[in-house]
Amino acid sequence: MRWFQDLMNTVFPDTCLACHAELMQGEAALCTSCRFALPLTNHHKDEENEFWKKFSATLPLKYALAYLKFQKRGVSQKIVHALKYYDNQEIGRMAGKWHGSVLYDTGYRFDLLLPVPLHASRLATRGYNQSDCIAEGLAAALQTDWSSTLLKRNKATQTQTRKARSERWANVAHIFEVTNPAEIKGKNIAIVDDVVTTGSTIDTCLRAVLAYEPLSVSLLALAVAGEL
Ligand SMILES: [Zn+2]
Repeated sequence: MRWFQDLMNTVFPDTCLACHAELMQGEAALCTSCRFALPLTNHHKDEENEFWKKFSATLPLKYALAYLKFQKRGVSQKIVHALKYYDNQEIGRMAGKWHGSVLYDTGYRFDLLLPVPLHASRLATRGYNQSDCIAEGLAAALQTDWSSTLLKRNKATQTQTRKARSERWANVAHIFEVTNPAEIKGKNIAIVDDVVTTGSTIDTCLRAVLAYEPLSVSLLALAVAGEL
């Protein structure tokens, strides 16, 4: 019956998203005890954290900072599911703000946040891009700009299996397109994603931005799955 509880939370959002306790005044989305139980990565305390190491081995990434550890059946999964499958865009903005506040207070600064775009067909089905919600919250707390139009996702049109390796990479690279390269050049860019799992999609996205001479590129994720 978890789907039912999740549904009830969407209809009656005055209960805690994770434990369904009634929220007290001043609490939003999560009750205080669940808020304190969030599985934080604390990546912001270590610029050379494991998440960063994973990407910086092959890419010149300035920072890689995820807010939560994605844990099945845990609070982090409930947040992600509410955001992705139950139209709870507010929880995305809120979690973005929580992460952004921590980063801002630690001294992290960015010029422009770019959420990883969805395929147009997926966007049409869901009605919104969950990474836009996170970026909006992050941008508010970090006092910076974000854009949902500068990065565009194209449909991969050809099958990739029969191509030579180099051609295959080229095809993958064109999945993401920068609509106005002048907006990238010389800026400290941060790509915003919801949950980073294998990292292959985000890797492609980072490469698309790195091609246009930003001052730096970083990765901000709501959650990271696995051991990172
Ligand atoms: Zn709770």
